[in-house]
Amino acid sequence: MKHRIVVLGAGYAGAYAAGTLARRLSPAGTEITVVNAEPEFVQRMRLHQFAAGRTIEAPRLTDVFAGTGIRLRLARVTAVAPERRVVTVADADGGGELGYDTLLYALGSRVADHGVPGVAEHAFHVTSRPAASRLRERLDALGERNEFAGILRTSLWTTSHPTFGLPRRRRHPVVASDASAANAASRPSR
Ligand SMILES: Cc1cc2nc3c(=O)[nH]c(=O)nc-3n(C[C@H](O)[C@H](O)[C@H](O)COP(=O)(O)OP(=O)(O)OC[C@H]3O[C@@H](n4cnc5c(N)ncnc54)[C@H](O)[C@@H]3O)c2cc1C
Repeated sequence: MKHRIVVLGAGYAGAYAAGTLARRLSPAGTEITVVNAEPEFVQRMRLHQFAAGRTIEAPRLTDVFAGTGIRLRLARVTAVAPERRVVTVADADGGGELGYDTLLYALGSRVADHGVPGVAEHAFHVTSRPAASRLRERLDALGERNEFAGILRTSLWTTSHPTFGLPRRRRHPVVASDASAANAASRPSR
């Protein structure tokens, strides 16, 4: 029986690791499956540019892995049971379980609002494509005047970067480190 390697996540870490393993290991002895929720490779590092209105490439994962022998499973990982060496996934067909001998966990990270009131409803971030789309729509709706508010301590970088894609007259970054930022983010443009 082949050694089953399951890679969770096809971001920078998962896609690179799976590709490297496919090159180094014999397909006669190993079987590599990548599980990812989205059908495209999302360039997370470019999402601030996407939020600012730029087009970023999103190659299809079927093309990325073409010819490598890697199996792609488009599904959302919902649970890992290491005692049974099984991953539970959900997809449009209902999902199921995937058995593994070696598991690589590369599902990235998510934003935590730490329960700060107003953040979930009013603040923006660019750590996922849906979130960046939401900010992009907001910026489009604001038109010529807009403001940015950063919630996280590391937000200065992100707060300033979306402005790089905008005409100069639309750059009005606002940075705050507490809940007041949520108010700033939701304030109508003047
Ligand atoms: C705007 C921005 C700019 C950045 N700029 C830089 C930079 O200049 N330099 C730098 O080094 N880093 C930068 N980073 C950080 C960098 O993007 C991350 O460190 C990197 O994306 C992490 O790679 P990863 O593969 O671990 O996770 P990700 O790239 O997030 O990939 C995770 C993958 O897992 C999938 N996934 C997540 N949950 C599930 C699930 N439950 N089921 C199935 N699939 C799932 C996602 O769809 C995704 O494909 C930036 C991040 C952002 C947001």
